[in-house]
Amino acid sequence: MCLLEFNDVSRGYGSEKVLSGVNLQVHAGEVIGLLGRNGAGKTTLIRLVMGMLRPESGRIKVFGEDPRKDPVATRRRIGYVAEDQELPPFLKVRDVIAMYRDLYADWDEDFATDLMNRFELPPARKIKDLSRGQARQVALLCAVSHRPDLLILDEPAGGLDPAARREFMETSIRLLNEEGTTILFSSHHMSDVERMASRLVMIHENQTWIDSELDDIREGYCLAQMLAGDGIDGQKLLSIQQCLCARRHGEALHAVFELDPDTCSRLLRDELGADIARCRTINLEEMFIELVGRPS
Ligand code: ATP
Repeated sequence: MCLLEFNDVSRGYGSEKVLSGVNLQVHAGEVIGLLGRNGAGKTTLIRLVMGMLRPESGRIKVFGEDPRKDPVATRRRIGYVAEDQELPPFLKVRDVIAMYRDLYADWDEDFATDLMNRFELPPARKIKDLSRGQARQVALLCAVSHRPDLLILDEPAGGLDPAARREFMETSIRLLNEEGTTILFSSHHMSDVERMASRLVMIHENQTWIDSELDDIREGYCLAQMLAGDGIDGQKLLSIQQCLCARRHGEALHAVFELDPDTCSRLLRDELGADIARCRTINLEEMFIELVGRPS
């Protein structure tokens, strides 16, 4: 079942184009890691899903409907933790939770209590006196205890130390997905995406540049490295259909291909007329830097 659909969606701010002609489908049970450089448009995409922004053109459907048609009904089925979400600082943890409980008719008190115990949250402590990690955990508990069909996390673990981040991501993503929740999360941490996501969507230059299952990325992409010169340059590599990007690193040329390493080696041998490229699998972090990093 398709929970979320973007059809040729464009949106910018003033004269700045942010998303242009984006197509995306999210199906029930998926865990999607949304990647992109700062300012690529991840939050903009999420705000469009939430109905907080209107697309300039194109069509968005969430649970089969325009999210702006009946925003209250749509929001009831979504759990959302924003990047910069602030909880009322002078309220106690239990009072914030009570506030959210009142908002949702289908609040699951057992689940909320379970998360409260799992996170070891102090119910009588004011939000302002919590650690950053604990405050994120309260925000998460409030976002998921009505058992949403779709959970959207915008850079949910920003500012947490690596151990707290891992624990938070494990709970929010693994636990909830095991319970059937579909999850869309943005992150700058490739390791989170590699560990948690079933699918990766990378936004670059106003588009979803890569939209692929994680397993396909591991097996279906490679990095080719060779020396520049003798008529071999970035332009020549980019003219090969499967080449996603090519850039110079000093004397070397690096190119990412949508091919497994063996096939890529054979293709480059045929195209370049010499066996000069070393092709190997590429991890997500390397791929991200090769694809969207600035030329060196
Ligand atoms: P980050 O990883 O830094 O959070 P992002 O991928 O979430 O970035 P967005 O927040 O969607 O990116 O921003 C995309 C672009 O739109 C940026 O250039 C940003 O400055 C701009 N932008 C975002 N919100 C507004 C706004 N309300 N008014 C004007 N420009 C905006």
